[in-house]
Amino acid sequence: MEYQCQRCGYKFEAQRQPYACPYCGEIGTAKPTPTAPELLEEVTPKEQKEAEKKEMEKERF
Ligand SMILES: [Zn+2]
Repeated sequence: MEYQCQRCGYKFEAQRQPYACPYCGEIGTAKPTPTAPELLEEVTPKEQKEAEKKEMEKERF
């Protein structure tokens, strides 16, 4: 998982939530950043809803 320090903006890979930023050393500032697959997952349900909407409109007529 990729993490980014909220203080200095440093991005790095880590298996677990880091205790402190490896760059600036600030404690508790590293937060997970959304990765590309996660962003795609957010888009997919929206597209599915649009497809369902179109299907419903077809059935109506
Ligand atoms: Zn930092």
